[in-house]
Amino acid sequence: MKLFNTLTREVEEFVPLKKGKVGMYTCGPTVYDYAHIGHGRKYVYDDLLKRVLTYSGFGVTHVQNVTDVGHLVSDADEGEDKLETGAAKMGKSVWETAEMFIKGFYETMDKLNVLRPDVVCRATEHIPEQTELIKRLVDKGFAYDTPEAVYFDVAKFPRYGELSGQRLADKLVAARQEVQTGSHKKNPVDFALWFKLIGRFEKHVMKWESPWGAGFPGWHIECSAMSMRYLGETFDIHTGGEDHIPVHHTNEIAQSEAATGKPFVKYWMHSAFLMVDGQKMSKSLGNMYRVEDVTEKGFDPMALRYLYLTAHYRTPLSFTWSSLTAAQSALDKLCEFTRATRELRVSLSKEKLKKIDQFKARFLQAVNNDLNFPQGLAVVWEMVKSNIPDYDKLELLLDWDQILGLGLASVQETGVVPEEAKKLAGEREALRKAGKFVEADKVRMQIEARGFTIKDTAIGPVIKSFSSHS
Ligand code: AMP
Ligand code: ZN
Repeated sequence: MKLFNTLTREVEEFVPLKKGKVGMYTCGPTVYDYAHIGHGRKYVYDDLLKRVLTYSGFGVTHVQNVTDVGHLVSDADEGEDKLETGAAKMGKSVWETAEMFIKGFYETMDKLNVLRPDVVCRATEHIPEQTELIKRLVDKGFAYDTPEAVYFDVAKFPRYGELSGQRLADKLVAARQEVQTGSHKKNPVDFALWFKLIGRFEKHVMKWESPWGAGFPGWHIECSAMSMRYLGETFDIHTGGEDHIPVHHTNEIAQSEAATGKPFVKYWMHSAFLMVDGQKMSKSLGNMYRVEDVTEKGFDPMALRYLYLTAHYRTPLSFTWSSLTAAQSALDKLCEFTRATRELRVSLSKEKLKKIDQFKARFLQAVNNDLNFPQGLAVVWEMVKSNIPDYDKLELLLDWDQILGLGLASVQETGVVPEEAKKLAGEREALRKAGKFVEADKVRMQIEARGFTIKDTAIGPVIKSFSSHS
Protein backbone atom coordinates (compact mmCIF):
# COMPACT_ATOMS: atom_id res chain seq x y z
CA MET A 1 0.00 0.00 0.00
CA LYS A 2 1.20 3.48 -0.83
CA LEU A 3 0.43 6.65 1.12
CA PHE A 4 1.39 10.29 0.72
CA ASN A 5 3.36 11.32 3.77
CA THR A 6 3.14 15.05 4.55
CA LEU A 7 6.41 14.78 6.47
CA THR A 8 8.47 13.67 3.46
CA ARG A 9 6.12 15.17 0.84
CA GLU A 10 6.27 11.91 -1.05
CA VAL A 11 4.08 8.94 -1.82
CA GLU A 12 5.73 6.16 0.18
CA GLU A 13 5.30 2.43 0.53
CA PHE A 14 3.47 1.84 3.80
CA VAL A 15 5.56 -0.31 6.15
CA PRO A 16 4.10 -0.61 9.65
CA LEU A 17 6.29 -0.46 12.72
CA LYS A 18 5.02 -3.86 13.87
CA LYS A 19 4.33 -6.49 11.25
CA GLY A 20 0.62 -6.86 10.55
CA LYS A 21 -0.44 -4.09 12.95
CA VAL A 22 -1.29 -0.45 12.47
CA GLY A 23 -1.65 2.23 15.14
CA MET A 24 -3.68 5.12 13.77
CA TYR A 25 -4.63 8.36 15.49
CA THR A 26 -7.19 10.84 14.21
CA CYS A 27 -7.69 14.35 15.53
CA GLY A 28 -11.34 14.43 16.46
CA PRO A 29 -13.87 17.23 16.73
CA THR A 30 -14.03 20.15 19.11
CA VAL A 31 -17.47 19.61 20.54
CA TYR A 32 -19.03 23.03 20.78
CA ASP A 33 -21.31 22.88 17.74
CA TYR A 34 -22.89 20.45 15.27
CA ALA A 35 -20.76 18.44 12.87
CA HIS A 36 -21.19 19.48 9.25
CA ILE A 37 -20.68 17.64 5.98
CA GLY A 38 -17.14 19.07 5.72
CA HIS A 39 -16.29 17.07 8.83
CA GLY A 40 -18.08 14.19 7.13
CA ARG A 41 -15.65 14.29 4.23
CA LYS A 42 -12.65 14.18 6.51
CA TYR A 43 -13.82 11.40 8.74
CA VAL A 44 -15.16 9.30 5.86
CA TYR A 45 -11.65 9.36 4.39
CA ASP A 46 -10.16 8.20 7.69
CA ASP A 47 -12.72 5.44 7.61
CA LEU A 48 -11.76 4.51 4.06
CA LEU A 49 -8.10 4.38 5.07
CA LYS A 50 -8.96 2.12 7.98
CA ARG A 51 -11.11 -0.12 5.79
CA VAL A 52 -8.41 -0.47 3.10
CA LEU A 53 -5.85 -1.39 5.76
CA THR A 54 -8.21 -3.87 7.40
CA TYR A 55 -9.12 -5.40 4.03
CA SER A 56 -5.40 -5.85 3.36
CA GLY A 57 -5.12 -7.91 6.55
CA PHE A 58 -3.70 -5.37 9.01
CA GLY A 59 -4.99 -5.31 12.54
CA VAL A 60 -5.80 -1.61 12.96
CA THR A 61 -6.09 0.14 16.32
CA HIS A 62 -7.84 3.42 15.67
CA VAL A 63 -7.76 6.09 18.35
CA GLN A 64 -9.65 9.38 18.12
CA ASN A 65 -9.72 12.22 20.60
CA VAL A 66 -12.57 14.52 21.44
CA THR A 67 -11.60 18.05 22.35
CA ASP A 68 -14.05 18.84 25.12
CA VAL A 69 -11.93 21.38 26.94
CA GLY A 70 -11.03 25.02 26.39
CA HIS A 71 -9.67 25.28 22.90
CA LEU A 72 -9.36 28.77 21.61
CA VAL A 73 -10.91 30.23 18.51
CA SER A 74 -7.55 30.41 16.72
CA ASP A 75 -5.11 27.49 16.49
CA ALA A 76 -2.52 29.71 18.11
CA ASP A 77 -3.11 30.79 21.70
CA GLU A 78 -5.50 33.60 20.79
CA GLY A 79 -9.20 34.36 20.99
CA GLU A 80 -12.12 33.14 23.04
CA ASP A 81 -12.74 29.70 24.44
CA LYS A 82 -14.87 27.91 21.83
CA LEU A 83 -16.57 25.62 24.29
CA GLU A 84 -17.61 28.41 26.65
CA THR A 85 -18.90 30.47 23.72
CA GLY A 86 -20.83 27.44 22.41
CA ALA A 87 -22.28 26.71 25.85
CA ALA A 88 -23.44 30.30 26.28
CA LYS A 89 -25.19 30.08 22.92
CA MET A 90 -26.95 26.85 23.89
CA GLY A 91 -27.85 28.10 27.37
CA LYS A 92 -26.21 24.97 28.85
CA SER A 93 -23.15 24.22 30.94
CA VAL A 94 -19.89 23.49 29.14
CA TRP A 95 -20.14 19.87 30.31
CA GLU A 96 -23.67 19.43 28.99
CA THR A 97 -22.71 21.12 25.73
CA ALA A 98 -19.76 18.79 25.20
CA GLU A 99 -21.89 15.75 26.04
CA MET A 100 -24.61 16.76 23.62
CA PHE A 101 -22.28 17.41 20.69
CA ILE A 102 -20.20 14.27 21.25
CA LYS A 103 -23.39 12.24 20.98
CA GLY A 104 -24.44 14.25 17.91
CA PHE A 105 -21.04 13.82 16.26
CA TYR A 106 -21.05 10.03 16.50
CA GLU A 107 -24.68 9.82 15.39
CA THR A 108 -23.74 11.81 12.29
CA MET A 109 -20.75 9.55 11.67
CA ASP A 110 -22.96 6.46 12.03
CA LYS A 111 -25.24 7.83 9.33
CA LEU A 112 -22.23 8.12 7.04
CA ASN A 113 -21.25 4.53 7.82
CA VAL A 114 -18.03 5.61 9.51
CA LEU A 115 -16.90 2.76 11.73
CA ARG A 116 -16.47 3.84 15.33
CA PRO A 117 -12.86 4.19 16.53
CA ASP A 118 -11.51 1.50 18.84
CA VAL A 119 -10.73 4.15 21.43
CA VAL A 120 -12.49 7.50 21.80
CA CYS A 121 -10.58 9.57 24.34
CA ARG A 122 -11.73 12.84 25.83
CA ALA A 123 -9.28 15.53 26.81
CA THR A 124 -11.08 16.12 30.12
CA GLU A 125 -10.64 12.47 31.07
CA HIS A 126 -6.87 12.53 30.46
CA ILE A 127 -5.64 15.48 32.46
CA PRO A 128 -3.03 13.43 34.43
CA GLU A 129 -1.49 12.16 31.16
CA GLN A 130 -1.24 15.75 29.94
CA THR A 131 0.27 17.22 33.11
CA GLU A 132 2.73 14.29 33.20
CA LEU A 133 3.89 15.10 29.69
CA ILE A 134 4.18 18.81 30.48
CA LYS A 135 6.24 17.89 33.53
CA ARG A 136 8.65 15.88 31.36
CA LEU A 137 9.04 18.88 29.07
CA VAL A 138 9.65 21.27 31.95
CA ASP A 139 12.16 18.87 33.53
CA LYS A 140 14.04 18.50 30.26
CA GLY A 141 14.15 22.27 29.76
CA PHE A 142 11.81 22.35 26.73
CA ALA A 143 9.09 24.23 28.59
CA TYR A 144 9.06 27.19 30.99
CA ASP A 145 6.67 28.46 33.59
CA THR A 146 5.33 32.04 33.53
CA PRO A 147 2.65 33.82 35.59
CA GLU A 148 0.07 33.24 32.82
CA ALA A 149 0.94 29.83 31.36
CA VAL A 150 3.51 27.10 30.89
CA TYR A 151 4.91 27.53 27.41
CA PHE A 152 6.79 25.22 25.06
CA ASP A 153 10.12 26.80 24.14
CA VAL A 154 10.22 26.46 20.37
CA ALA A 155 13.80 27.71 20.11
CA LYS A 156 14.92 24.57 21.97
CA PHE A 157 13.57 22.33 19.24
CA PRO A 158 15.54 23.01 16.08
CA ARG A 159 13.39 20.81 13.82
CA TYR A 160 10.31 22.93 14.62
CA GLY A 161 8.28 23.52 11.45
CA GLU A 162 9.63 20.53 9.52
CA LEU A 163 6.11 19.25 8.82
CA SER A 164 4.92 22.41 7.10
CA GLY A 165 8.28 23.25 5.59
CA GLN A 166 8.10 26.69 7.20
CA ARG A 167 11.32 28.04 8.60
CA LEU A 168 11.20 29.18 12.21
CA ALA A 169 12.44 32.64 11.22
CA ASP A 170 9.47 33.07 8.83
CA LYS A 171 7.04 31.89 11.48
CA LEU A 172 8.43 34.41 13.92
CA VAL A 173 7.68 37.29 11.59
CA ALA A 174 4.16 35.99 10.87
CA ALA A 175 3.40 35.38 14.52
CA ARG A 176 4.61 38.73 15.76
CA GLN A 177 1.48 40.59 14.72
CA GLU A 178 -0.73 38.20 16.70
CA VAL A 179 1.06 38.39 20.00
CA GLN A 180 -1.13 39.71 22.74
CA THR A 181 0.30 42.43 24.86
CA GLY A 182 1.40 41.30 28.28
CA SER A 183 2.37 37.87 27.04
CA HIS A 184 5.24 36.30 28.92
CA LYS A 185 6.24 34.22 25.93
CA LYS A 186 9.97 34.27 25.23
CA ASN A 187 9.21 33.82 21.62
CA PRO A 188 5.96 34.66 19.77
CA VAL A 189 5.73 31.13 18.32
CA ASP A 190 5.99 29.45 21.75
CA PHE A 191 2.70 27.80 22.55
CA ALA A 192 0.81 27.15 25.77
CA LEU A 193 0.91 23.72 27.36
CA TRP A 194 -0.98 24.80 30.49
CA PHE A 195 -3.09 27.94 30.91
CA LYS A 196 -3.45 29.50 34.34
CA LEU A 197 -6.56 31.14 35.69
CA ILE A 198 -5.50 34.72 35.26
CA GLY A 199 -6.55 37.57 33.02
CA ARG A 200 -9.09 36.47 30.42
CA PHE A 201 -9.13 32.98 31.97
CA GLU A 202 -9.81 34.09 35.52
CA LYS A 203 -13.31 32.63 35.42
CA HIS A 204 -12.59 29.68 33.17
CA VAL A 205 -15.16 27.04 34.01
CA MET A 206 -13.18 23.89 33.30
CA LYS A 207 -10.18 23.79 35.58
CA TRP A 208 -7.88 21.30 37.29
CA GLU A 209 -5.01 21.39 39.77
CA SER A 210 -1.47 21.03 38.44
CA PRO A 211 2.13 21.49 39.63
CA TRP A 212 1.91 25.00 38.12
CA GLY A 213 -1.35 25.95 39.80
CA ALA A 214 -4.99 25.56 38.81
CA GLY A 215 -5.79 25.89 35.14
CA PHE A 216 -6.45 23.86 32.02
CA PRO A 217 -4.36 22.28 29.25
CA GLY A 218 -3.59 23.89 25.92
CA TRP A 219 -5.14 22.20 22.91
CA HIS A 220 -2.08 20.59 21.33
CA ILE A 221 -0.87 18.69 24.38
CA GLU A 222 -3.99 16.50 24.55
CA CYS A 223 -3.29 14.82 21.21
CA SER A 224 0.33 14.02 22.12
CA ALA A 225 -0.59 12.73 25.56
CA MET A 226 -3.54 10.60 24.48
CA SER A 227 -2.06 9.19 21.27
CA MET A 228 1.06 8.07 23.16
CA ARG A 229 -1.03 6.67 25.98
CA TYR A 230 -2.97 4.37 23.62
CA LEU A 231 -0.52 3.77 20.77
CA GLY A 232 2.93 4.13 22.30
CA GLU A 233 5.58 6.83 21.93
CA THR A 234 6.05 6.09 18.23
CA PHE A 235 3.15 4.97 16.08
CA ASP A 236 2.26 4.49 12.42
CA ILE A 237 -0.32 6.95 11.11
CA HIS A 238 -1.64 10.30 12.29
CA THR A 239 -4.38 11.98 10.28
CA GLY A 240 -5.99 15.38 10.31
CA GLY A 241 -7.33 18.16 8.13
CA GLU A 242 -4.73 20.13 6.18
CA ASP A 243 -5.36 23.12 8.46
CA HIS A 244 -3.61 21.17 11.20
CA ILE A 245 -0.24 21.07 9.46
CA PRO A 246 1.29 24.46 10.36
CA VAL A 247 0.29 24.74 14.01
CA HIS A 248 -1.47 21.83 15.70
CA HIS A 249 0.53 18.95 14.23
CA THR A 250 3.75 20.94 14.15
CA ASN A 251 3.30 21.50 17.88
CA GLU A 252 2.36 17.89 18.51
CA ILE A 253 5.61 16.73 16.90
CA ALA A 254 7.70 19.25 18.82
CA GLN A 255 6.32 18.45 22.26
CA SER A 256 6.18 14.66 21.73
CA GLU A 257 9.67 14.28 20.28
CA ALA A 258 11.17 16.72 22.77
CA ALA A 259 9.72 14.67 25.63
CA THR A 260 10.58 11.18 24.37
CA GLY A 261 13.63 11.78 22.18
CA LYS A 262 12.02 9.39 19.67
CA PRO A 263 10.25 9.93 16.35
CA PHE A 264 6.57 10.52 17.09
CA VAL A 265 4.72 9.40 13.95
CA LYS A 266 5.87 7.57 10.82
CA TYR A 267 3.20 8.70 8.32
CA TRP A 268 1.31 12.00 8.52
CA MET A 269 -1.79 12.17 6.36
CA HIS A 270 -3.80 15.32 5.73
CA SER A 271 -7.00 15.80 3.83
CA ALA A 272 -8.21 18.76 1.84
CA PHE A 273 -11.44 20.60 2.58
CA LEU A 274 -14.99 20.40 1.43
CA MET A 275 -15.65 23.79 -0.12
CA VAL A 276 -18.73 25.93 -0.77
CA ASP A 277 -18.54 28.76 -3.28
CA GLY A 278 -14.76 28.68 -3.18
CA GLN A 279 -14.55 28.81 0.62
CA LYS A 280 -13.93 26.14 3.25
CA MET A 281 -17.21 24.88 4.70
CA SER A 282 -16.98 25.85 8.35
CA LYS A 283 -18.91 26.65 11.46
CA SER A 284 -17.40 30.09 11.70
CA LEU A 285 -18.18 31.11 8.09
CA GLY A 286 -21.79 29.99 8.51
CA ASN A 287 -21.80 28.21 5.14
CA MET A 288 -22.28 24.76 6.53
CA TYR A 289 -24.78 22.02 5.89
CA ARG A 290 -25.38 19.15 8.22
CA VAL A 291 -26.20 15.59 7.22
CA GLU A 292 -29.75 16.32 8.39
CA ASP A 293 -30.02 19.16 5.83
CA VAL A 294 -29.11 16.67 3.16
CA THR A 295 -31.54 13.97 4.27
CA GLU A 296 -34.36 16.50 4.69
CA LYS A 297 -34.06 17.21 1.00
CA GLY A 298 -34.60 13.52 0.30
CA PHE A 299 -30.98 12.45 -0.21
CA ASP A 300 -29.56 9.30 1.27
CA PRO A 301 -26.53 9.89 3.56
CA MET A 302 -24.80 7.25 1.42
CA ALA A 303 -25.11 9.61 -1.57
CA LEU A 304 -22.93 12.00 0.40
CA ARG A 305 -20.45 9.22 1.05
CA TYR A 306 -20.49 8.42 -2.66
CA LEU A 307 -19.86 12.09 -3.43
CA TYR A 308 -16.81 12.09 -1.14
CA LEU A 309 -15.47 9.07 -3.01
CA THR A 310 -15.51 10.95 -6.29
CA ALA A 311 -12.65 13.27 -5.29
CA HIS A 312 -9.19 12.32 -4.08
CA TYR A 313 -8.69 13.19 -0.42
CA ARG A 314 -5.81 15.58 -1.16
CA THR A 315 -7.92 17.63 -3.60
CA PRO A 316 -10.53 20.14 -2.42
CA LEU A 317 -14.08 19.08 -3.25
CA SER A 318 -16.72 21.68 -4.04
CA PHE A 319 -20.10 20.87 -2.61
CA THR A 320 -23.10 21.63 -4.84
CA TRP A 321 -26.60 20.23 -4.77
CA SER A 322 -26.27 19.17 -8.38
CA SER A 323 -23.14 17.13 -7.65
CA LEU A 324 -25.01 15.49 -4.78
CA THR A 325 -27.90 14.73 -7.14
CA ALA A 326 -25.48 13.05 -9.55
CA ALA A 327 -23.98 11.07 -6.66
CA GLN A 328 -27.45 9.98 -5.53
CA SER A 329 -28.31 8.81 -9.01
CA ALA A 330 -25.06 6.81 -9.32
CA LEU A 331 -25.68 5.27 -5.90
CA ASP A 332 -29.26 4.41 -6.88
CA LYS A 333 -27.96 2.51 -9.89
CA LEU A 334 -25.63 0.44 -7.71
CA CYS A 335 -28.48 -0.22 -5.27
CA GLU A 336 -30.82 -1.18 -8.09
CA PHE A 337 -28.25 -3.51 -9.49
CA THR A 338 -27.72 -5.09 -6.09
CA ARG A 339 -31.43 -5.45 -5.54
CA ALA A 340 -32.20 -6.79 -8.98
CA THR A 341 -29.41 -9.32 -9.23
CA ARG A 342 -30.64 -12.68 -8.18
CA GLU A 343 -29.09 -14.86 -10.85
CA LEU A 344 -27.55 -18.16 -9.96
CA ARG A 345 -23.85 -18.67 -10.45
CA VAL A 346 -23.04 -20.12 -13.83
CA SER A 347 -19.78 -21.81 -14.62
CA LEU A 348 -17.42 -19.28 -16.08
CA SER A 349 -15.22 -19.42 -19.10
CA LYS A 350 -11.50 -18.93 -18.55
CA GLU A 351 -11.70 -15.59 -20.27
CA LYS A 352 -14.38 -14.34 -17.87
CA LEU A 353 -12.52 -15.63 -14.83
CA LYS A 354 -9.46 -13.74 -15.99
CA LYS A 355 -11.54 -10.62 -16.42
CA ILE A 356 -12.90 -10.91 -12.87
CA ASP A 357 -9.37 -11.28 -11.51
CA GLN A 358 -8.28 -8.24 -13.47
CA PHE A 359 -11.12 -6.15 -12.09
CA LYS A 360 -10.23 -7.26 -8.57
CA ALA A 361 -6.59 -6.39 -9.05
CA ARG A 362 -7.34 -3.01 -10.60
CA PHE A 363 -9.76 -1.97 -7.90
CA LEU A 364 -7.37 -2.89 -5.12
CA GLN A 365 -4.46 -1.27 -6.89
CA ALA A 366 -6.40 2.01 -7.10
CA VAL A 367 -7.49 2.16 -3.48
CA ASN A 368 -4.08 1.03 -2.25
CA ASN A 369 -2.43 3.78 -4.24
CA ASP A 370 -2.76 6.63 -1.76
CA LEU A 371 -6.50 5.98 -1.50
CA ASN A 372 -7.33 6.70 -5.14
CA PHE A 373 -11.07 6.21 -4.74
CA PRO A 374 -12.09 8.20 -7.86
CA GLN A 375 -10.14 5.62 -9.86
CA GLY A 376 -11.61 2.85 -7.72
CA LEU A 377 -15.13 4.05 -8.63
CA ALA A 378 -14.20 4.07 -12.31
CA VAL A 379 -13.27 0.38 -11.99
CA VAL A 380 -16.58 -0.26 -10.19
CA TRP A 381 -18.54 1.12 -13.12
CA GLU A 382 -16.47 -0.56 -15.76
CA MET A 383 -17.05 -3.86 -13.96
CA VAL A 384 -20.81 -3.29 -13.52
CA LYS A 385 -21.18 -2.49 -17.21
CA SER A 386 -18.96 -5.37 -18.36
CA ASN A 387 -20.11 -8.71 -19.80
CA ILE A 388 -19.23 -10.86 -16.80
CA PRO A 389 -22.30 -12.54 -15.25
CA ASP A 390 -24.41 -10.43 -12.91
CA TYR A 391 -23.92 -12.85 -10.05
CA ASP A 392 -20.17 -12.33 -10.17
CA LYS A 393 -20.61 -8.60 -10.50
CA LEU A 394 -22.67 -8.59 -7.35
CA GLU A 395 -20.13 -10.69 -5.52
CA LEU A 396 -17.33 -8.27 -6.47
CA LEU A 397 -19.44 -5.27 -5.60
CA LEU A 398 -20.32 -6.57 -2.15
CA ASP A 399 -16.72 -7.55 -1.53
CA TRP A 400 -15.47 -4.08 -2.50
CA ASP A 401 -18.19 -2.46 -0.47
CA GLN A 402 -16.41 -3.67 2.67
CA ILE A 403 -14.02 -0.87 1.72
CA LEU A 404 -16.37 1.62 0.03
CA GLY A 405 -18.83 1.37 2.90
CA LEU A 406 -21.85 2.34 0.82
CA GLY A 407 -23.99 -0.15 2.70
CA LEU A 408 -24.88 -2.16 -0.41
CA ALA A 409 -25.19 -5.38 1.56
CA SER A 410 -28.10 -3.86 3.45
CA VAL A 411 -30.03 -2.99 0.32
CA GLN A 412 -33.17 -5.06 0.63
CA GLU A 413 -35.48 -6.37 -2.00
CA THR A 414 -38.49 -4.10 -1.55
CA GLY A 415 -41.14 -6.62 -2.47
CA VAL A 416 -41.27 -9.78 -4.53
CA VAL A 417 -41.95 -9.05 -8.16
CA PRO A 418 -44.61 -11.46 -9.45
CA GLU A 419 -43.89 -13.60 -12.48
CA GLU A 420 -46.59 -11.80 -14.44
CA ALA A 421 -44.89 -8.42 -14.00
CA LYS A 422 -41.54 -9.93 -14.93
CA LYS A 423 -43.06 -11.41 -18.08
CA LEU A 424 -44.55 -8.04 -19.03
CA ALA A 425 -41.16 -6.41 -18.43
CA GLY A 426 -39.58 -8.90 -20.82
CA GLU A 427 -42.22 -8.14 -23.46
CA ARG A 428 -41.69 -4.41 -23.03
CA GLU A 429 -37.94 -4.78 -23.45
CA ALA A 430 -38.42 -6.82 -26.65
CA LEU A 431 -40.73 -4.12 -28.03
CA ARG A 432 -38.28 -1.38 -27.13
CA LYS A 433 -35.43 -3.23 -28.79
CA ALA A 434 -37.60 -3.55 -31.89
CA GLY A 435 -38.17 0.21 -31.83
CA LYS A 436 -41.88 -0.17 -31.01
CA PHE A 437 -41.89 2.47 -28.33
CA VAL A 438 -45.61 3.25 -28.29
CA GLU A 439 -46.47 -0.42 -27.73
CA ALA A 440 -43.67 -0.72 -25.16
CA ASP A 441 -45.14 2.19 -23.27
CA LYS A 442 -48.54 0.53 -23.17
CA VAL A 443 -46.97 -2.53 -21.58
CA ARG A 444 -45.23 -0.27 -19.07
CA MET A 445 -48.64 1.06 -18.06
CA GLN A 446 -49.85 -2.49 -17.52
CA ILE A 447 -46.89 -3.10 -15.23
CA GLU A 448 -47.67 0.08 -13.31
CA ALA A 449 -51.30 -0.94 -13.01
CA ARG A 450 -50.02 -3.97 -11.07
CA GLY A 451 -48.24 -1.73 -8.58
CA PHE A 452 -44.72 -1.82 -9.95
CA THR A 453 -42.54 0.71 -11.66
CA ILE A 454 -40.00 -0.01 -14.27
CA LYS A 455 -36.85 2.00 -14.57
CA ASP A 456 -34.31 1.87 -17.37
CA THR A 457 -30.88 2.01 -15.81
CA ALA A 458 -27.30 1.78 -16.96
CA ILE A 459 -27.49 -1.94 -16.34
CA GLY A 460 -30.82 -2.50 -18.09
CA PRO A 461 -34.49 -2.29 -17.05
CA VAL A 462 -35.27 -2.89 -13.39
CA ILE A 463 -38.74 -3.54 -11.95
CA LYS A 464 -39.16 -2.30 -8.42
CA SER A 465 -40.99 -0.37 -5.82
CA PHE A 466 -37.88 1.62 -5.17
CA SER A 467 -37.02 3.04 -1.82
CA SER A 468 -33.32 3.47 -1.28
CA HIS A 469 -31.66 1.64 1.66
CA SER A 470 -33.68 -0.47 4.03
P1 AMP B 1 -12.93 21.10 14.06
O1 AMP B 1 -14.04 20.47 14.82
O2 AMP B 1 -13.30 22.34 13.36
O3 AMP B 1 -11.69 21.20 14.88
O4 AMP B 1 -12.56 20.13 12.87
C1 AMP B 1 -12.32 18.76 13.04
C2 AMP B 1 -11.65 18.22 11.78
O5 AMP B 1 -12.48 18.43 10.65
C3 AMP B 1 -10.32 18.88 11.46
O6 AMP B 1 -9.40 17.87 11.07
C4 AMP B 1 -10.63 19.80 10.30
O7 AMP B 1 -9.54 19.93 9.45
C5 AMP B 1 -11.76 19.04 9.60
N1 AMP B 1 -12.62 19.96 8.84
C6 AMP B 1 -13.25 21.07 9.30
N2 AMP B 1 -13.92 21.67 8.27
C7 AMP B 1 -13.72 20.91 7.17
C8 AMP B 1 -14.14 21.00 5.79
N3 AMP B 1 -14.90 21.99 5.34
N4 AMP B 1 -13.73 20.03 4.94
C9 AMP B 1 -12.95 19.01 5.38
N5 AMP B 1 -12.51 18.88 6.63
C10 AMP B 1 -12.89 19.82 7.53
ZN1 ZN C 1 -5.12 16.74 17.44
